[in-house]
Amino acid sequence: MSDIIQLLPDAIANQIAAGEVVQRPASALKELLENAVDAGATQVQVVVKESGKQLIQVIDNGKGMSATDARMSFERHATSKIRSSADLFSIRTFGFRGEALASIAAVAQVELKTRQAESELGTLIQIEGSEVKKQEPFAGNIGTSVSMKNLFFNVPARRNFLKSNPVEMRHIVDEFQRVALSYSEIGFTLFQQDLEVYSLTPGKLSHRIVGIFGKNYQGQLVPCEELTPHVNVKGYIGKPENAKKTRGEQFFFVNNRFIKSSYLNHAVSSAFEGLLQPDQHPFYVLFLEIDPSHIDINVHPTKTEIKFDDERTIYAVIRSAVKQALGAHHVVPSLDFSLDVNFNEKWDKDPEKKAQVDREYSYKSFNTPEFKQASTSGWEKLFEGTQQGTRNINRATPSDETEVLTFESRANPDEATEFIPRPTETESTGATFQVELSYVVAQMSAGFLIIDQQTAHERILYERYLRQLKLAQGTSQQCLFPPTINLGPSDFALVMDIMPELHSLGFMVSEFGKDTVLIQGVPADIQVKNEKELFEGLLEQYKHFKSELSLDTRENLARSLARKSSLKKGQKMNSQEMETLVGQLFACQTPNYGMGGNKTFVKLDLSSIHSFFGK
Ligand code: ADP
Ligand code: MG
Repeated sequence: MSDIIQLLPDAIANQIAAGEVVQRPASALKELLENAVDAGATQVQVVVKESGKQLIQVIDNGKGMSATDARMSFERHATSKIRSSADLFSIRTFGFRGEALASIAAVAQVELKTRQAESELGTLIQIEGSEVKKQEPFAGNIGTSVSMKNLFFNVPARRNFLKSNPVEMRHIVDEFQRVALSYSEIGFTLFQQDLEVYSLTPGKLSHRIVGIFGKNYQGQLVPCEELTPHVNVKGYIGKPENAKKTRGEQFFFVNNRFIKSSYLNHAVSSAFEGLLQPDQHPFYVLFLEIDPSHIDINVHPTKTEIKFDDERTIYAVIRSAVKQALGAHHVVPSLDFSLDVNFNEKWDKDPEKKAQVDREYSYKSFNTPEFKQASTSGWEKLFEGTQQGTRNINRATPSDETEVLTFESRANPDEATEFIPRPTETESTGATFQVELSYVVAQMSAGFLIIDQQTAHERILYERYLRQLKLAQGTSQQCLFPPTINLGPSDFALVMDIMPELHSLGFMVSEFGKDTVLIQGVPADIQVKNEKELFEGLLEQYKHFKSELSLDTRENLARSLARKSSLKKGQKMNSQEMETLVGQLFACQTPNYGMGGNKTFVKLDLSSIHSFFGK
């Protein structure tokens, strides 16, 4: 048999390699921006059309390339940045793989114009699908301009996989922000079609942060610095009271390279411990400087992951740097009184809340007339819309005295179901009360249920919101004073993207000028004090879940809104509210578990109680 193994032609090899480097327009932008920075540019201009699907052009005033280098730059593994494998351990530049231009040219139509200061004429190269179409001298500015047109023009399958324009634009803005943050001494502009999105003048980091995230950040930044022999940490953290507004913008740069690390992120959040509510995220932009021989940036092709040889030390240094920054700027004391740092502490100060157990003996069943009257207003609104579900609850009828606890659904006696308890309805034995304002204890005829109120309520709301999203039946309440929210380009793009889902839930949101939305209505079943805060919190939660769990839009929105609008621990409930909670929980499809998989309740049945006493 003849030999059948052949080397792939370069164009195909490049196209395959491109899959790793260029997943979407934003990844190409990242590479092009990094090349501009590596070339020593002081001014970088980005032009984007159709969210990069049609065009991404990066123009720099860096050192340019010779005619030969210009041609070479499109070869795979062609780089001016490392020469030997030893250099891999002392990388200070962004690039080093020499793959980016080759990959981009394999899957797009690229035009490169470049000129070095010392030569009068520069070079123009047009290349499409790895094929050079034109190379000629050209007269133009010093520096380099790379235009990438019609990304994936020759790989329709991948082009079809690109997301909507708002989504791709959000990725582009994210990449742009990261590079712009890490080089505040370089001027950057970003144009989308003909609109200027950013124009960032060279300057200090604090100036750059304000330029990117808006004037609100002025006065909210706390400098943070810790210099050790092993690692230097420098940058800014946001004041805790501003955490909500910052929408979780969090940036780590290692030797100026943006990285993601949940481990190091934890170091920062743990330094903020006690200063933030669980759903708040501190703002930070922190730069770590470390000898390149102690890190390996080669872990991940798109290079946002990094390996440190001593991660624990770095964790400790970051934590201490942030703690010190918070302390040195008196951020901590000023907050002790304004935040519910610790529920126990608060109770000690507040005698009304000191009682750790709230007893409520007047048990009423869900369908008593009192309950129905009460259910129309106030806190009860939280539970509206799931009433129809309560009919599925198995109820003991008064004649059921002998029946202790049924585990099966009465409607389908044959169907084996999971344990779904039902509270008894006998006034004499019924008692529902709160423990630590966190758990609801409901009496059943053969023991107790201990219900985690927040987890349970999240489950109830989550199922409700999923239903509303599916049927697009969410109803709105109008805002008295419709707020406008300036979101910044990236969040704005996100909101545009999930607009239909937001409407299904009952948010009446509309575009209101550049990067701004108007909130005219919010879901009717949520009691809102501050619509702006609700909406921003929802977005924040959404983004958090998206990065943590990569959920689909509906699932994520349902979870986010449930998390945002659920009742929290520490919230006092009256007996009706507790009973409604119990009833609605057990009307859920999956009453046993919260959104995150935690148990919603535990059962303390008679046999366990007996066993406590050795009976
Ligand atoms: P890498 O950046 O990993 O070296 P690239 O494919 O991104 O690989 O670029 C290949 C080479 O082309 C770089 O090493 C550099 O010498 C040159 N180059 C790319 N972009 C520019 C630019 N904007 N200005 C000057 N030189 C550039
Ligand atoms: Mg590069």
